[in-house]
Amino acid sequence: MDASAGETSADVVLEALRARARSGATRSADWRRDQLAALERMMIECEAEFGEALAADLGKPALEAWASETAYVAGEARYARRRLRGWMRPRPVPTPAVAQPGASRLVPEPLGVVLVIGAWNYPVQTVLAPAVSALAAGNAVLLKPSELAPASSAALARLVPRYLDPDGVRVVEGGAAETEALLRARFDHIVYTGSGRVGRIVMRAAAEHLTPVTLELGGRSPCVVMPDADVEVAARRIAWGKFMNAGQTCVAPDHVLVDAATRERLVPALAGAIRAFYGDRPLASPDLSRIVNRAHFDRLCRALEGLAPVHGGGRDAATLRIEPTIVVDPPAGHALVCDEIFGPILPVLTVDGLDDAIARIEGGDTPLAAYLFTRDRAAGRRFVDEVRAGMMCLNDTLMFTTVPELPHGGRGASGMGGFKGRAGFERLSHLKPVLRRGWWPDLALRYPPYTDAKFRWLRRLR
Ligand code: NAD
Repeated sequence: MDASAGETSADVVLEALRARARSGATRSADWRRDQLAALERMMIECEAEFGEALAADLGKPALEAWASETAYVAGEARYARRRLRGWMRPRPVPTPAVAQPGASRLVPEPLGVVLVIGAWNYPVQTVLAPAVSALAAGNAVLLKPSELAPASSAALARLVPRYLDPDGVRVVEGGAAETEALLRARFDHIVYTGSGRVGRIVMRAAAEHLTPVTLELGGRSPCVVMPDADVEVAARRIAWGKFMNAGQTCVAPDHVLVDAATRERLVPALAGAIRAFYGDRPLASPDLSRIVNRAHFDRLCRALEGLAPVHGGGRDAATLRIEPTIVVDPPAGHALVCDEIFGPILPVLTVDGLDDAIARIEGGDTPLAAYLFTRDRAAGRRFVDEVRAGMMCLNDTLMFTTVPELPHGGRGASGMGGFKGRAGFERLSHLKPVLRRGWWPDLALRYPPYTDAKFRWLRRLR
């Protein structure tokens, strides 16, 4: 499709969605509940179809496809549907004496049409999890899956119209040209998941229309292991969070920060966890996903050039698989130390205790997630207080994604705006402040002519 054709069809689709939103149909609790129920049903009934697509795009194991994509979205949809009535209810807020008699409320109302642009690493979840929030908030939604996960994109284009209101939810497939065409149109909110580079393009385009954006970006999520941590448990949890989806997870621990003595216990424990998870021939393991495409495979292989991994390092260009790999202390300035890795390579970087670890983290871009393993509650408190990050988990990795009321989102370079649960609903609603005043008494105090006596009384009322 050339870009101008993309523009035309984008306009047609957008107009249809806008008409649906304007008709008021998407506002009703029934429509929202029906859409959320249908979305949940789609994830359950089409688990196998989505699973096959995810296996084709990323070699994703069925269990991971279920846990992190289909069951994840189904769970979010169910959670939102069950709480919808409460979320939609106007929220009373206190009314001061000066506005009495009166009642003040925040009334959630839909924004209109929301554009969701997904990423390839969790190609179903990054499209449909924001859709849960958008639908719960009563919006029409345009979904743009990533072209780099073509089977998942096609599955969404095929299945979404079968389950969801075709006038209120549409899927547009395509790459950069189609997305740029979409971005020229005026949406009421844009949710983008992906790289900071494209995040900037999205935000610039949105600025033309003063459209608010939610950006779910990436970054180098650090993982600090303290000497008092249970190293065996920490190693398992780090290896699990890192090597799931072959490291192509936005909140995967990017690298480990550890002191020299703890490193000597941690590295063998990490190697042991990798062997226990993926066996002695990880490239043949059905539980190890592949790298999404040749360009990313080559990027990761280049990053390993000239280094001597202490574990792994094997790769297979034919299947785009790279072994879970551990590298200790790559040189300063190396890509593994400076860029988000987004692959199954775990650098273990030696630091001089917690102060040094925190200084290093704070010296870089704000990460999407930060992890600390320690039994020391004071150290945990310090980490929470002093480290800027989108999200945090102490003594585990990734598990915050299972908590519906912990919104998923970054800050600074890792994005803006959080999703999930009530926060997702509120992000894609406008909480309209409404004051309802009583008719009587209608005090003359505030009306001109202004006198000294009125001024004195008004000061007392404040
Ligand atoms: P990407 O930015 O290359 O692509 C994401 C989307 O942007 C795709 O739908 C693509 O079609 C579109 N796109 C690409 N080029 C474009 C252009 N020039 N103009 C307009 N649209 C364009 O990102 P990616 O490589 O798919 O994702 C990797 C990054 O995403 C990593 O940094 C990762 O950490 C991050 N990520 C973040 C989250 C999160 O929830 N915060 C989740 C998944 C991935």
